[in-house]
Amino acid sequence: MTGKGERVRVVGWVNSIRSVGGIVFLEVIDGYRMQLYTVVAKRSENPEAWRAASDVKTGSAVVVEGVVPSKTISRRGLEVHPTRLEVVSEPEEVLPLDPSEKTPALLDTIIEHRYVALRTLKQRAIFRIRALAVKAARDYLESQGFVEVHTPKICGAGAEGGATLFQLDYFGRRAFLAQSPQLYKQMLMCGLSRVYEITPYFRAEKFNTVRHLNESWGIDAEMAFISGVEEVMKLLEGLISHVFEAVKSKAEPELRALGVKLQKPRRPFKRLTYDEAIEVLRSRGLEVEWGQDFGSDEERALGEAMAEEGYDAYFIVDYPWSAKPFYIMRRGELSESFDLDYRGLELASGGQREHRYRELVENIRLKGLNPEDFAFYLKAFRYGMPPHGGFGLGLDRLVMVLVNARNIREVVLFPRDTQRLTP
Ligand code: ATP
Ligand code: MG
Repeated sequence: MTGKGERVRVVGWVNSIRSVGGIVFLEVIDGYRMQLYTVVAKRSENPEAWRAASDVKTGSAVVVEGVVPSKTISRRGLEVHPTRLEVVSEPEEVLPLDPSEKTPALLDTIIEHRYVALRTLKQRAIFRIRALAVKAARDYLESQGFVEVHTPKICGAGAEGGATLFQLDYFGRRAFLAQSPQLYKQMLMCGLSRVYEITPYFRAEKFNTVRHLNESWGIDAEMAFISGVEEVMKLLEGLISHVFEAVKSKAEPELRALGVKLQKPRRPFKRLTYDEAIEVLRSRGLEVEWGQDFGSDEERALGEAMAEEGYDAYFIVDYPWSAKPFYIMRRGELSESFDLDYRGLELASGGQREHRYRELVENIRLKGLNPEDFAFYLKAFRYGMPPHGGFGLGLDRLVMVLVNARNIREVVLFPRDTQRLTP
């Protein structure tokens, strides 16, 4: 904390200017902290600094040296009386949005000019919380022995078939951008039994929703020598709880700027079977056929039902195998899989994988795929592949929940959707 009478050096941007009589008030936001300053330049106190302050334009990058007075007159931020004020860069044009937040900006304007929007406490809070969530997830997974890995994003085959992949030309061969690290993290289970990766996912569907992007980020984990899918769910539950706890305790100014009261989800998270979920949905008048995956209407209705029971976070378990990818382990018509939803938003999918070579090949065939296309993957299952499982957790979706955003584009600096390729 900065104490009264202390000398300070402030670097940041001028968000607003007010001038009365012989005094200029500059509202300055710090370069990276959650800190606003009111620089109060008085002609009577320091004519040189006052003159410099009088010439400043809104949006300028400034370096201010000064003193925190013992008696303050400004209402917002930390008051600083300048002894020196230097403009290190002036804007060429009027700013595209009001960084003092008196006039709220449209989301489209924010996305177009995110770097300027980061001069507001709200925008800055979102991305500081995002960074904190990533760090907390790393800390947690590493405390559980997981090793961070990096798998290729340019791939020769997709995880679940070809329809949703971006294709590219790889020296005359057909390649794809990775839609998930699924196949690679599983192959690693043959030699390193706990791995995680924080990675982009590329998906080529023409999404038009507030919860999908064409480039999104995931926190993927995979663990071997498990005795069942419950172990994977426990890990994910621990991870989510740790991230909430870390954000709650370390991002107090950020949460305040956003007006968010973060509640750690009740533990243990509810386990709801697919059949129970169908019953809940039918009792709410939704028509769902057994065997299909839930869409966002179903997800939202389930979220409401679970909230009424006091659960924000809940697992949906025992999905029909028909609704899940080939690598998920079968149990008759059902599967060893789960989704984790939070208030009607899918945050993660996971499960136990099929580690037995013959069964895996059979599963690939049953999904109408060609095992030969997966030869490089299947090979890893011939050399002592242990039982394993894991999950893919949507990082953008997790941040949406932490900052209470309605649109995924609010929590991604430069979103990639069907409309946006720049900035
Ligand atoms: P959804 O059913 O919501 O389209 P999914 O089941 O296709 O998602 P998974 O393959 O299970 O997605 O991916 C794991 C997690 O990654 C999801 O639970 C979600 O949180 C996140 N995710 C997947 N696709 C996207 C996307 N296009 N945009 C943002 N997040 C995504
Ligand atoms: Mg899923």
